[in-house]
Amino acid sequence: MIKKLNHCRLCVSKKYKPLFSKNEYDICKCLNCGFIFLDFKPGKSFFTDYYSEEFFNDIGVKHAYSNYENESKTLKKSFLLRIDVLSKYKATGSLLDVGCATGTFLECAQSSWKTSGIDISNYAIQVARKKGLETFVGEIKNSPYIKRKFDVVTLWDTIEHVSNPKETLSEINKIMPLGGILGITTGDVGSLFSRFSGNCWHLYNIPQHLSFFDKNSIAKLMKETGFEIKEILYLPLNLTLDYVLFRFITFYKLVIFQPIYKLLKNHNLLNLELNINLYDIMFVVAEKKGTV
Ligand SMILES: [Zn+2]
Repeated sequence: MIKKLNHCRLCVSKKYKPLFSKNEYDICKCLNCGFIFLDFKPGKSFFTDYYSEEFFNDIGVKHAYSNYENESKTLKKSFLLRIDVLSKYKATGSLLDVGCATGTFLECAQSSWKTSGIDISNYAIQVARKKGLETFVGEIKNSPYIKRKFDVVTLWDTIEHVSNPKETLSEINKIMPLGGILGITTGDVGSLFSRFSGNCWHLYNIPQHLSFFDKNSIAKLMKETGFEIKEILYLPLNLTLDYVLFRFITFYKLVIFQPIYKLLKNHNLLNLELNINLYDIMFVVAEKKGTV
């Protein structure tokens, strides 16, 4: 039985309507603020159970990654583009990566900033620690980071995973100085590609994704949590053919193609690197302007 949220994830209004259902979950639109969200209230253990080792190294057809660490070399190229943008605003100081996974971004960022990372996944943090990265498993409010201030805070594809985005950004606001820089990536449900894909949009990844932002709702969230948007960019992603195929097969449950995928993989034919931009992932750069 799916536990419903029963209110808008952003403005808490009880007036909302279902748009469509997927895997028995309802994707809804708020009639007050227009926000699109999953009507699902995850229990306490949902996050720790979900982001297990299997999430990062899937052997079946359930998750996005067949081997997250293998993909990280390619991911680094996308991260370097984002570092170039963030450096324009704040080239040195301290940086916290929220939802840091196995620390791939931290590895790229540590030459510019003094880095720390936090993630809900115990498995991912163990991997990050083996790389010598300073990290914490759990939530910001329970971490030693609440006593510190970070000049730059990043959330790569993380805000759509948290149960209360407003609460998360308010907590982040508290650990940043005025003028601190926030970098966020998340899907843009208002993008042309999302609208063209309809219910089949690849970022309707249920039940991992709980929120579906567009430019309006992300702007509202930023404003209410003390941030001012500096720019919104749509940068390309470097991905391997392996990732794209695996993701395609798992997302659309095309089990029939699995033997072909395995055959190509076993012959090392999936290492090809792709540079993809569907213009449906927003990179939002914001500055802390006030406290909340
Ligand atoms: Zn709302």
